[in-house]
Amino acid sequence: MGLVDITHVDNIAENCVKLYNELPKTGKPVEAEWTVLSCIIQYDNRTEEFEVVSLGTGSKCIGASKMSSTGDMLNDSHAEVFARRGFLIYLYDNMEQALDSKQSIFNFENGLFKVKDNINFIFYSSQLPCGDASILPKAGEEDQYGDVLQSMKKQALEDICDVEHKKSKTDIHRTGAKCLPDSEQDSKQPGASYHLLGHVRTKPGRGDRTQSVSCSDKMARWTHVGIQGGLLDLLLSKPIFINYFIFGSGVTYSDESLTRALLKRNADDLSLVQPDIIPQFYQSKLVFPYIRTEQNVRPAPGSIVWTRSKGVEVAVQGRKLGVTKKKAKSLSSSLFINKYNIYKKFQSVLNRSEKVKKSIGLQTLKDVPYNEMKRKSKRYLSQWELVKDIFFKSWTKKPDMWNFCIE
Ligand SMILES: [Zn+2]
Repeated sequence: MGLVDITHVDNIAENCVKLYNELPKTGKPVEAEWTVLSCIIQYDNRTEEFEVVSLGTGSKCIGASKMSSTGDMLNDSHAEVFARRGFLIYLYDNMEQALDSKQSIFNFENGLFKVKDNINFIFYSSQLPCGDASILPKAGEEDQYGDVLQSMKKQALEDICDVEHKKSKTDIHRTGAKCLPDSEQDSKQPGASYHLLGHVRTKPGRGDRTQSVSCSDKMARWTHVGIQGGLLDLLLSKPIFINYFIFGSGVTYSDESLTRALLKRNADDLSLVQPDIIPQFYQSKLVFPYIRTEQNVRPAPGSIVWTRSKGVEVAVQGRKLGVTKKKAKSLSSSLFINKYNIYKKFQSVLNRSEKVKKSIGLQTLKDVPYNEMKRKSKRYLSQWELVKDIFFKSWTKKPDMWNFCIE
């Protein structure tokens, strides 16, 4: 694939920002607010065409006390997670198209779906994911100010506070994401030793603590066992991996922190990671206009999700924006990417083909709760146990509360 060509990287980032700009204003940052933009892009290496297939924005998460077991709420409204959930809808849409013998990214063989060989997936995000990937040395920061300013800044630093300068070189960018409660904690010593490296963390935020792990951790999981998750894995002949990650400019960036966070954590080297799933990392020159800056200090409260088939929806506090209080509990007026609606989509694929049902050993779907269905994905779960043991020892289980059925 010709992605090493840097023009492709910038083109792809431009397409993501262009799509974002075309969406309605609702849910976007207003004055002094910032957000994160993430997209999943499909790349056809036969035609060299690419297309944004899902988009997400946002940086909010709900606390553990607000979690709901019916699958109507979204615990995690970070852009990366929204883009992935939109992508799942895109995959289910393509499964339905394959069953209808329409154009699809899948081949349907022996009751399972397989992504065609020419199809690749790229993940774009306007900044590094929260958590481990965001912990990186501050040295080299001056680069982004350009040559003149850089030399002026350097001179001034050398003149005025040589000692301070040396000290800042060993300082790190920090993350608000804390290590998991039952694991070893950050030292919080000044300088480079403030954070532990390679650890699983919960999402940043004050007050009611969230149970969602950081985007670095979620993306590491996608990198190692596939972005499709356990449920969709049941329908696939093999997992789906992101081949390329592209990040925006104007924010901190490091190949090293990405390699650590998304691939090897505290394992000694990359040899433990299967070679066919090692993605490549790129930084585009493009700056997303709504990154966090000195002017944009507050995170936007809304999160946007977009797919071509479903259009755009906005979430606030884990629920669809604009739904009246009376309707808030009704699942029909809930977000199309919540657990309930994704499980419904899964079931609709199953209901369309006896072959699919047979391949996962089910005659009827009636009264099979969501969490029980997920436990059937033996390949995914055993691979995850293996990976966890090598790379993510401190990763603890979330309480398994989602035992809802589709009505
Ligand atoms: Zn995040």
